[in-house]
Amino acid sequence: MSTLIADLIAIASAKNVITGDALLERPTSYWDSSPTRAIAVVKPATTEQVSAILALCNRRKQTVVVQGGLTGVVQGANSSVEDVVISLTRLDKILEVNEVDGVAQVESGVVLQSLQNELTDRGLLFPLDLGARGSCTIGGNVATNAGGINVLRYGMMRNLVLGLEVVLMDGTVVSSMYPMLKNNTGYDLKQLFIGSEGTLGVVTKVLLRLFPLPVSRQSAMIAADSFESVVGLLQQVKAKLAGTLSAFEVMWNNYYVGVTGEGQHRPPLGRHYPYYVMIESEGFEPESDKIRFQNLLETAFEAGQIVDAVVANSEREREELWLVREEFDPILPAYLYDISLPIQKMTAYTDELEQRLTTELNGTNSVVFGHIADGNLHIFVGPYQNENHHANVDSIVYGSLQKYGGSVSAEHGIGLGKKAWLSINRSDVELGMMRGIKSIVDPDGLLNPGKVI
Ligand SMILES: Cc1cc2nc3c(=O)[nH]c(=O)nc-3n(C[C@H](O)[C@H](O)[C@H](O)COP(=O)(O)OP(=O)(O)OC[C@H]3O[C@@H](n4cnc5c(N)ncnc54)[C@H](O)[C@@H]3O)c2cc1C
Repeated sequence: MSTLIADLIAIASAKNVITGDALLERPTSYWDSSPTRAIAVVKPATTEQVSAILALCNRRKQTVVVQGGLTGVVQGANSSVEDVVISLTRLDKILEVNEVDGVAQVESGVVLQSLQNELTDRGLLFPLDLGARGSCTIGGNVATNAGGINVLRYGMMRNLVLGLEVVLMDGTVVSSMYPMLKNNTGYDLKQLFIGSEGTLGVVTKVLLRLFPLPVSRQSAMIAADSFESVVGLLQQVKAKLAGTLSAFEVMWNNYYVGVTGEGQHRPPLGRHYPYYVMIESEGFEPESDKIRFQNLLETAFEAGQIVDAVVANSEREREELWLVREEFDPILPAYLYDISLPIQKMTAYTDELEQRLTTELNGTNSVVFGHIADGNLHIFVGPYQNENHHANVDSIVYGSLQKYGGSVSAEHGIGLGKKAWLSINRSDVELGMMRGIKSIVDPDGLLNPGKVI
């Protein structure tokens, strides 16, 4: 046994250090079932253990990769045979829920859905929500500045984190655990770590903002016959459901057709409409919320913004509607893109993209859905062929995006997958500052090496 592994075992105990053949049983990620490659995967249970592991690796100039629930989309948690992996899944305690201040203190390995369930029982809401809720961790959500389906109302992770505890590569523990919303005391250091994808420090504890749990929920899937109608509807719902609108998720026809039909999800509406929108509002006045929602749908019908609709009358019906939007296995394998651009440029971009894919890469197609109110589109391009084809698709997706002033990453981050394209959105000055910050906290470049910058 190497001295490194012996030292890791001394810190975390033998059963929490995975090596050799045991690594073969551990998938690389949600998206990649090939085995984890690493010297060892170590699973600390406390901040002190995380600190000791990092200090050890720092002394030995040993590279370290940080992993949460492994659902990230841009290979930010991928490791090589030369890395030690720190998996945060044993830091899984909800430490405190303060109902008066509306703050939860959690360890970073807590699974998002476990926190959601715990809070629901107390009449509270942590509003981050995304399809990976059953596996992703709060630490991973912080590290990727996750967004999801409720950004429209509550914002991304940056808006939802009040405080952080982070361990730097040399083992220093930075405690920025201030539970107040207002705290203008110099640089807001926690924001530096949010969205840093495990390259600046390991998040061990988080203070999260909580909200009252809405008691009424209205959900509908609607069909629209043009993108102009979708945009008109968005303006209507933002005004008329102000304060209660929580989701406005748009699916292009090619996405809807791809996930519904024979052997797939049951289509709640006909499959011939150009656009489908999942709308949800959540409030505290069940009777009047319902009337407001119904009135809105009626007005939108009269204005021609909606041509068909189905309203969920039970939680089961709601879940069935959301399955269409969230469960996209039928269109996999494909390359997944996560871009943002101004709403009014979306269809020009998606039309151009489809046209270029068809003419330049025969037989390649795109399907589109997105959180359009956030300017965010998810695009699947397929069918998967090989790495060369993937690189060509990247060039078309990102190359076309440039002239529309879009971002190559709306919410998934950069990781390894988008690193080559970061300079589309960031100037040399910005990239230089990012490298400067990295070199202050991790001068030898040992933490999540090669990711982001
Ligand atoms: C089905 C599905 C739907 C998704 N939907 C959305 C969506 O709607 N919106 C969205 O924003 N994202 C979405 N994602 C991707 C999203 O980034 C992740 O689901 C989630 O935020 C990552 O959490 P994780 O614990 O799985 O992190 P991992 O995948 O393990 O890691 C992701 C990154 O964070 C770093 N990291 C993890 N934990 C820590 C830590 N404690 N400290 C420091 N760095 C850490 C890793 O090094 C890596 O760079 C989706 C993914 C899936 C599979």
